[in-house]
Amino acid sequence: MIELRFLGTGSLGDKRPKNKLSKDYRRFPTLLIGSQVLIDPSEDIFEFQESFSFFGLLSSVSDVLITHSHLDHLSVSAIEALAKRSEIRVWATAPVLDVIGDIRGVRRFEIAPFSRITVGDLDIIALPANHATDNAREVALNFLIRRDKTLFYGLDGAGINPLAFEVLKEVSLDGCIFDCALADGEYSQGSVNHNNLDAVKIIIDILQKAGCCTDGTKYIISHLPSAKKGGLHDRLTEMVEDTAIKVAYDGYYICI
Ligand SMILES: [Zn+2]
Ligand SMILES: [Zn+2]
Repeated sequence: MIELRFLGTGSLGDKRPKNKLSKDYRRFPTLLIGSQVLIDPSEDIFEFQESFSFFGLLSSVSDVLITHSHLDHLSVSAIEALAKRSEIRVWATAPVLDVIGDIRGVRRFEIAPFSRITVGDLDIIALPANHATDNAREVALNFLIRRDKTLFYGLDGAGINPLAFEVLKEVSLDGCIFDCALADGEYSQGSVNHNNLDAVKIIIDILQKAGCCTDGTKYIISHLPSAKKGGLHDRLTEMVEDTAIKVAYDGYYICI
């Protein structure tokens, strides 16, 4: 079993409704796995902890994985704040580690596409993502995360990277988390870094046809657009009602 808590499910932009507990209030995307592993901690995690009264939620965090250097995924000040409590290990590509720099209490470990690492009791393979940053030297990462269950963490990214697919098609996935930053909007050539809901459905179809997903596989969409006006969560939930897709929201908890 792998326990997942979504501390943020939004994307760049600070348009948020007033109610911080609303399912349409989306912080920058951060995932907590168990109690020790954080993916892409943003500065919002401390406010999340306060707003949801999850005191001590972050006190056991020992390892931080960073997918890429976009500002909604990489917060150096959040890493600093976590390291003030106790020493942490940070796993990221060389260009991302360069941005983080030397921080007291942080041990930095370089990873690259296809690195295999052990983080606590999780086996993790870094996979290349279809997602570009301004740094041409940087390859954004997705992660294949395994314990007794297997999870694909696919944000940020559009579609499936063909090299990542070569790895994914060999495993049986119990859960997948997909980027859906375009929500139910149009897909255009200018939006090749992210998915809309139709693209997520196509990815699922491809993975199912490749035999790596079963009827029991859980699919979760996250990295949704920020908006002042509510209603997106309910609208998307209604749109996926007859599918196995779940719409994540800040505070969402699921075991796979
Ligand atoms: Zn992003
Ligand atoms: Zn990004």
